[in-house]
Amino acid sequence: MGIARHIRKLEGYVPGEQPKSKNVVKLNTNENPYPPSPKCTAVLTSFDLDDLRRYPDPNFTTLAKAIADKNGTTADRVFVGNGSDEILSLATRVFVENDESIGSLDPSYTLYKTLAAIRDVKWVGVGRATGDARRASAILAECRKSNISLFLWTNPNAPTGEFAEPKAIAAFARKFKGVVIVDEAYADFSRDNCMSLATAPRNRNVIVMRTFSKSYSLAGLRVGYCVGPKDLIDALYKAKASYNVDAVAQAVALVALKDDAYHKKTVAKVIKTRKAFVKALAKRGWDVIRSESNFVFVKPPAGDAAKDIFSYLKDRNIFVRYFPGPLTGDRLRITIGTDGQMETLLDALDDRFRGEEKTRKTSKTKTRKLPPRK
Ligand code: PMP
Repeated sequence: MGIARHIRKLEGYVPGEQPKSKNVVKLNTNENPYPPSPKCTAVLTSFDLDDLRRYPDPNFTTLAKAIADKNGTTADRVFVGNGSDEILSLATRVFVENDESIGSLDPSYTLYKTLAAIRDVKWVGVGRATGDARRASAILAECRKSNISLFLWTNPNAPTGEFAEPKAIAAFARKFKGVVIVDEAYADFSRDNCMSLATAPRNRNVIVMRTFSKSYSLAGLRVGYCVGPKDLIDALYKAKASYNVDAVAQAVALVALKDDAYHKKTVAKVIKTRKAFVKALAKRGWDVIRSESNFVFVKPPAGDAAKDIFSYLKDRNIFVRYFPGPLTGDRLRITIGTDGQMETLLDALDDRFRGEEKTRKTSKTKTRKLPPRK
């Protein structure tokens, strides 16, 4: 009676901290440092209040059509969610039987594991993907062994930033019996993507999912979408809340989507800053996994612990993300902000290093002063 047993033992997903103060350098939740398209302001200021009196379009018809046009497909192959998180949650209910499991790369977006637990099915991590076909076959073997019916392939992956070649994902999907959702939350920052797999007429099991939260700078709006075979899209419609995307969100997302020039400019700026930041960290001895995303997953030089640097930065109002655990605990995930924000971070790291040098030198002097051991 009361709370279901599997929910009682659930830990719950812990999202990155959203500090109240605006006076912080916030590089912990992969938000875009630049504002959304200025055209969104016009929509918000001229929004007719009478449109809020009524329920929104339950089928987000105009937005779905615009998304379809942009991706070279038809609106009946598009589904829109209250953030892509909602689509993930729906997918766990729609594409998984009680005795099946959900798979993903590992490490990956930690929400997947929580969603599986909420759905009361097993989550199976299959390790990292290198992008080559051999690794994809190994993942496939694991899927068969673990009875995985829904595979969430984050590309580029989070928190690593690694990119897998679309052809490796395609090879995997062809042989995989269940549904593959390619979570492309960060694909706009990478060199390629899997959208053509989702829109292909013969596609039977690939859904490509995108969000307005990252490259469109609209994390607060809560809009994500996916494209896939019509029968799978129809199934998502059946399970959704009647009015899952509110009227304001539909209107604002539509203009943001159409402002291609602004979107391209913002994405290009983030990529440029990422490249400079990666170089700056490498110069300081950090290990940087090649990222095709708007964040980097980095390991401090030997002798320094990621966890300590996380706390050190937080004390200075610089927020980055630390994921404890054997696969991730030696690194920090740092979102790419503006050039200025990255400089502030680098300055703080340099200060810390200088501080440590000083302590080391002082303690050396002290050691020398100690009487020799007998
Ligand atoms: N997928 C991945 C890999 C993410 O990192 C995120 C954001 N944390 C999401 C999906 C969800 O994004 P949203 O719900 O804001 O669309």
